[in-house]
Amino acid sequence: MKALLILSDGIADVPCPQLGGRTPLEAGTNPHLDRLAAEGITGLMDPLKPGIPAGSDTAHIAIFGENPFSVYRGRGYLEALGVGLSPGADDIGFRVNFGTVTDGVITDRRAGRDPTGLSELVRDITREVSLSVPFSLKEATGTRAALVLKGSGLSYHLTDGDPHREGLAPLSVCPSDGSDDASRTAEIVNDFVAQAAEVLRGHPVNDLREARGLLPANYMLVRGAGIRPVVTPLPERYGISACCIAATALIRGVATCFGLDLIDVPGLTGEYNTVLEDRAGYVLEALDAYDFVFVHFKATDTASHDGNPRRKVEMIEKLDTFVGRLLAGIDPQKVVVALTGDHTTPCMLGDHSGEPVPLVLWGGRVRTDDVLSYGERSCAKGGIGRLTAQDLMPVLMNQAGRVHKFGE
Ligand code: ZN
Ligand code: ZN
Repeated sequence: MKALLILSDGIADVPCPQLGGRTPLEAGTNPHLDRLAAEGITGLMDPLKPGIPAGSDTAHIAIFGENPFSVYRGRGYLEALGVGLSPGADDIGFRVNFGTVTDGVITDRRAGRDPTGLSELVRDITREVSLSVPFSLKEATGTRAALVLKGSGLSYHLTDGDPHREGLAPLSVCPSDGSDDASRTAEIVNDFVAQAAEVLRGHPVNDLREARGLLPANYMLVRGAGIRPVVTPLPERYGISACCIAATALIRGVATCFGLDLIDVPGLTGEYNTVLEDRAGYVLEALDAYDFVFVHFKATDTASHDGNPRRKVEMIEKLDTFVGRLLAGIDPQKVVVALTGDHTTPCMLGDHSGEPVPLVLWGGRVRTDDVLSYGERSCAKGGIGRLTAQDLMPVLMNQAGRVHKFGE
């Protein structure tokens, strides 16, 4: 048996007043998600532990079977890996935003979210900034980028340069553990930020941006310092071939750490304009070639962060269309399918929260239950009961016949 795991980021929610007290999953029309629930087995899954809100990074580490409380080493390395930088085992990765600073105060943390000219800025910063260690910088989606510092004797125990709020001055990066390595690394990062600001000040790209009525991208806000988490790759753990279809850099980075091959599918983005529903064919092809296929859909989380439950309903319906097209090409005797989320993102909060997420398994020999629809309340009555994300891979791989007996 093969296995397909479809993950809709932040799909779970809480009752929304704008939807008459229903969640976005409950308010939409999702015949294919409901079919999975009716023909499969459902339950609830805690991404980390009950009540602990998960980041997408820690949740995915758990979903791929490791304990994030022991292996997580920050987000920046995963992000750098995901944008296609190839950080070494000792290197430190950072998340970077191009921001706008006016008179020493951050007026926009994302430079108006407009990426015009940023590749040129990345190129010139890479060319002109000179540090005591080698570094690489690469654009990511929107106005984001990833930075890698290379070399030994560096530490990721650092505070953020991004105060995460507008109207404040950017912060100096400081060591968070008092070690010499962290002090030295903090100095290098602050040196990078200062030199980059020199390059950006009065850069022709920023003149052009301002002439077009855009905000200048004149400051690099760094955060999320991280190193490589030590994890067991899925091919090693289960003797399987595995691949990942995802547009989001972070998820691509986590998947890479777990030994999944990245499959690029045109038209997939982390935004509302993604065309996942038209790309079921790529997933079916991947299922021909691999034992385990992981598909990530970001737009549900995006709608939640935007506080827009109606848009979230639409994005879930997009996912439903994708699932319908996929199921038309899948033989349930050959493929077991799981569909879940990585955390709850209530639209009313615009951020992640600690409630569990609905889970469904379909195909193969799964026991069915009496649940007929896929939603937070309905899946709470399901036959799986409640498990933690770290148990998902064994549960799924057991269905696929990939878990060895423990004992005689
Ligand atoms: Zn997430
Ligand atoms: Zn999120």
